[in-house]
Amino acid sequence: MKRFDVVVVGAGPVGLVCALKLSRAGVDVLLLEAQSELNQELRASTFHPPTLDMLEEFGVTATVIRQGLITPTWQVRMHPSGERAEFDLSILREHTRHPYRVQCEQWKLSRMLVTQLTSELWFDTRALDVRQAGDAVTLLVERGGEREELECSYLIAADGARSAVRRALALGFEGVTFPETTILATTRFDFAAHLPGLSGVNYCWAPSGTFSLLRLPPSGASRSIRTMARKSKQRSSPRQSIASCSASSRFRRPTKCCRRGLIASTSASLITIALGACSSPAMRRTSIVRRAAWA
Ligand SMILES: Cc1cc2nc3c(=O)[nH]c(=O)nc-3n(C[C@H](O)[C@H](O)[C@H](O)COP(=O)(O)OP(=O)(O)OC[C@H]3O[C@@H](n4cnc5c(N)ncnc54)[C@H](O)[C@@H]3O)c2cc1C
Repeated sequence: MKRFDVVVVGAGPVGLVCALKLSRAGVDVLLLEAQSELNQELRASTFHPPTLDMLEEFGVTATVIRQGLITPTWQVRMHPSGERAEFDLSILREHTRHPYRVQCEQWKLSRMLVTQLTSELWFDTRALDVRQAGDAVTLLVERGGEREELECSYLIAADGARSAVRRALALGFEGVTFPETTILATTRFDFAAHLPGLSGVNYCWAPSGTFSLLRLPPSGASRSIRTMARKSKQRSSPRQSIASCSASSRFRRPTKCCRRGLIASTSASLITIALGACSSPAMRRTSIVRRAAWA
């Protein structure tokens, strides 16, 4: 049976940072990832000042900044009036080396971290079960269709919200789940041309609910913006949620649900909830809609 000082389960940002930190301290680490590659989904998109400070030791902060969008201010605003409170992070300049937020996709960070990694990383390897005894942990994994056992002194569970390790150890996951459906869409629509005074990060309040407008770094020649529309205070299925959004929309569009997510043939209807009266044809160029399961 192969033995390691530490096995880290899950190569998301948490697992990658753990493995990097430990291997730089001379610890023998193995990082396991169930998927065949790093996650490329659009997930988190903001780096805050303390995170940028902390990531410096791994040599990735400069790259995050280069590939991202420096965002010195963020705001809370009322829609459609445009009244707003704007927060200027430069006020933190004596407390951080990075007195701003950086808009940069989470998958880019994972890709940067993996290039710095010197420890072993096994893709296609899923942790199935864990046993503890004396001074060792035995981990049952499935790798390329074959089952094998690994031994380690310490096991770090960084396998996400549905952690198999946590389940194997019968650990609970206390807390609450917001009874809301969050919809995430990316679009090249130029919100700033229609909503004066937008920052790179905007938390908006409208009579119909709240939404966020988050600007992402330029991709190619065009800019993309991420929109999250929170609609329902009740638990509802993606189909119900889309239907209720579409119903209040000026751009009613056919939508369909698929098993793993939610796809709208165009998401103009969703963006419309966010924008109310904004009615440019450019909105119809909106690209992807995903349902974020925050459970
Ligand atoms: C659509 C979406 C939008 C989001 N937006 C935001 C946001 O705007 N701001 C924000 O702060 N957060 C956001 N989040 C949350 C953020 O993405 C997570 O908090 C973050 O990914 C957690 O990192 P992690 O490394 O703990 O887990 P994950 O990124 O979930 O990584 C866990 C890894 O473990 C692997 N794994 C799972 N089970 C096993 C197993 N049994 N064996 C081996 N490997 C396994 C998975 O394949 C995965 O690669 C969003 C999430 C989603 C889904």
